[in-house]
Amino acid sequence: MPHRNTQPVPSYKIPVGISACLLGDNVRFNGGHSQSQLCMKTFANYFDYVKFCPEVAAGFPTPRPSMRLTGNPDDPVLRFTNDPTSELTEQFIQGYQNKVENCGELDGYILMKNSPSCGLERIKIYQENGHPHQTRGRGLFTKALMEKYPLLPVEEEGRLNDVHLCENFIMRVFAHYHFRNEVLAQPTYANLLKYHSSYKYLLMAHSQQAYKSLGKRLATAANEPLDELLVEYQTTFMKAIEHPAKRGSHCNVLLHILGYLKKTVPGEERQDIADVIEQYQRGEVNLTTPVTLLHHYIKRDGSDYIRAQRYLEPYPAALGLRNHV
Ligand code: SF4
Repeated sequence: MPHRNTQPVPSYKIPVGISACLLGDNVRFNGGHSQSQLCMKTFANYFDYVKFCPEVAAGFPTPRPSMRLTGNPDDPVLRFTNDPTSELTEQFIQGYQNKVENCGELDGYILMKNSPSCGLERIKIYQENGHPHQTRGRGLFTKALMEKYPLLPVEEEGRLNDVHLCENFIMRVFAHYHFRNEVLAQPTYANLLKYHSSYKYLLMAHSQQAYKSLGKRLATAANEPLDELLVEYQTTFMKAIEHPAKRGSHCNVLLHILGYLKKTVPGEERQDIADVIEQYQRGEVNLTTPVTLLHHYIKRDGSDYIRAQRYLEPYPAALGLRNHV
């Protein structure tokens, strides 16, 4: 679990959508909430939450009968669990449609699990005989959100208790935010190159292939239509960082970064850093240990290029997301 510490937090907050029940709103079918301490405490200093309950927005009262998805898994119908003749899909869609249209300024979305409306995955879809299909689905609101914004980082609150999934989600939220603010807000080829340059080593940690292909692609793209290039770039980039990086890939990147200190840091000190990287490789220390050590030397002796690498601090270190072994 990530933890808070007393380091200063940034002056900006990133807009992130969230299922309203996770923030303690009593909007669940039973009149209760599903308050998340992780969201309300750990992330609240960094995120400007935009909360939404699609069931309440659709006009369903609280409390209300529970709902479930039924029928064809490719096109399920929302019904009250206690009334198989009810047909709630159209009313539900009307409730969220406008909201989904206006999520373009968000950099992430945190969703409540097991909900036929908000669930991200493994949502049961029931057959006429009352048994669930083997195929599981996604909540209807979440499905519409992800179809409209396929590059938006989304995650279920429950999965954020997995340190690797949590770290990866937060990193993607910050990468999305940086792209929106540093590239899309002032779209130029130069700004795209600058963004790519700052994310090179983070990209390398997640996908050697994307690291190489995007580098080659940008090298010859100066005169291409920018709009198409930005879409192509962001699609490949966000896809490449979708899953947590492996320990071996982190070691590879750490050693690459260490190479930048060859001319400025004596061999003995570089060997000490290499030893710490090996300790991380063996699982004896967490990722923060070699990164902090390298960061210290890079800040002192590194070039502007290597100092600008977001791999060294992809989000505020105070979040403590790399502190697990
Ligand atoms: S899971 Fe979604 S629909 Fe259900 S109460 Fe929470 S916000 Fe509302």
